[in-house]
Amino acid sequence: MALRNILQEGDPTLNKQSRPVTDFNARLHELIDDMRETLLHADGVGLAAPQVGVLRRVVLVMDTDREDATPEEQLIELINPEIIAASGEQIGPEGCLSIPGVYGIVNRPDLVKVKAQDRFGNYFEVWGSMLTARAFCHELDHLDGVLFRSLASEILSPEQLEEMRQQHEENMDEGSGS
Ligand code: ZN
Repeated sequence: MALRNILQEGDPTLNKQSRPVTDFNARLHELIDDMRETLLHADGVGLAAPQVGVLRRVVLVMDTDREDATPEEQLIELINPEIIAASGEQIGPEGCLSIPGVYGIVNRPDLVKVKAQDRFGNYFEVWGSMLTARAFCHELDHLDGVLFRSLASEILSPEQLEEMRQQHEENMDEGSGS
């Protein structure tokens, strides 16, 4: 395994369409293993192959709904993913490893169901809610060359982001009381 360089906004590769994976071979497995290491190292919630310069439909998403799992266990590998159901709405801050330090308000569904293949080509379906749902949408957008900045209704200043985080924490505190 090796760390790969994460492309930054402005690199034209990030605006290109990625092609479906057709060969579930050792080369794909090497790409996925490198992406796992790169994502864990960057401490992100998702990573798409075009972000490491490979225009193939491969993404990783951290399933943060599984709170008891380790980061390694939370990683979901999605090959040729498609959103097959979505419901609800969440309006909140979103960031990207390719646009470090920038956060914007993006409207996303709060529950999505994704159909994908695993690294061996087997089909499976997975649900994600809240942050995981947002990460599914964000990473799948990367496969179509879309960055969150083009979807954001507003780009947040560092002060606005901090204020939002504090509000979020207060809500969490209220929610976690028994
Ligand atoms: Zn991103």
